[in-house]
Amino acid sequence: MIVTRATTSNSLLTLCPSSSSSYKNLFWSLLPWKSRLNSDIGSCSSFTRQRQGLQSRQMASVSAAAVQASTRKLEKPDELIDSVKTFIFDCDGVVWKGDKLIDGVSETLDMLRSKGKRLVFVTNNSTKSRKQYGKKFETLGLNVSEEEIFASSFAAAAYLKSINFPNDKKVYVIGEDGILKELELAGFQYLGGPADGEKTIKLEPGFLMEHDKNVGAVVVGFDRYFNYYKIQYATLCIRENPGCLFIATNRDAVTHLTDAQEWAGGGSMVGAIRGSTQQEPLVVGKPSTFIMEYLSQKFGILKSQICMVGDRLDTDILFGQNGGCKTLLVLSGVTSLQMLQSPNNSIQPDFYTRR
Ligand SMILES: [Mg+2]
Repeated sequence: MIVTRATTSNSLLTLCPSSSSSYKNLFWSLLPWKSRLNSDIGSCSSFTRQRQGLQSRQMASVSAAAVQASTRKLEKPDELIDSVKTFIFDCDGVVWKGDKLIDGVSETLDMLRSKGKRLVFVTNNSTKSRKQYGKKFETLGLNVSEEEIFASSFAAAAYLKSINFPNDKKVYVIGEDGILKELELAGFQYLGGPADGEKTIKLEPGFLMEHDKNVGAVVVGFDRYFNYYKIQYATLCIRENPGCLFIATNRDAVTHLTDAQEWAGGGSMVGAIRGSTQQEPLVVGKPSTFIMEYLSQKFGILKSQICMVGDRLDTDILFGQNGGCKTLLVLSGVTSLQMLQSPNNSIQPDFYTRR
């Protein structure tokens, strides 16, 4: 392993001494090596077992607080880069913030590609399909292909494919366009989604809501048009259709619809259906390991040679740890150094970058 000596001139602080945008820090932390690198360019069945072990691992992670001191500031990015073949990046807060590209991202991705690293982008946001995310990357001037993007909308469709979900069964969707597009691409029949956004019910005496008995799975993702009609429809499918699956794209407590505050995330929609059905969902997005298993099998990559880069402890870092990967936390995102070092935090990344 080639270990490049880290000097104070390579430190993130030194590189971004006057940065008002802390988001550039992750990428600048890797970029100092660009000048040197330019000269030397050279079955998802286990998911079920992984899921069963998730709870125990999460419990075990509590003990991780005891090794809190082992979390290291990223002082030698060259060492990390040399030991990793695939970098998985979270998107919001890492690649972009809202519709704004974070400084240094484009150069860093180019540098990593020049080193022969595989780049993968994973997001829990299910409102867009891979194709729609591809357009966003393109709009931001980034050369990223659809095949490198793994949104939880895609994960939901990929999971159904992995279990050979029957094509003659239907999927009821609580969520937005991204899930519908991915289901359609995968060849599945679906109903619900935005089309049910304005539907209402009349609670007259004797009123009974009919539902499609051929629905074999309910997929729940973030839905700005969530309503009681959807709750009742999904509940009927899960409770009354034998074997109907309850799949969640993610259980994120909050999301960032605007930069003014945190907004109720996909976990709020999932929680409603969990409450009415008393069933636990099968989660396909982070921190579940489904996407990691999928990537590992699809590309034939060792999880020990993957580094998960993200700004959230309870999704990104836990996702990497659950998958047996290296983890790098971007402190300039939603997680502060104070949050990382809090006695209440049990999720410790391998490395973190600070301002
Ligand atoms: Mg993020």
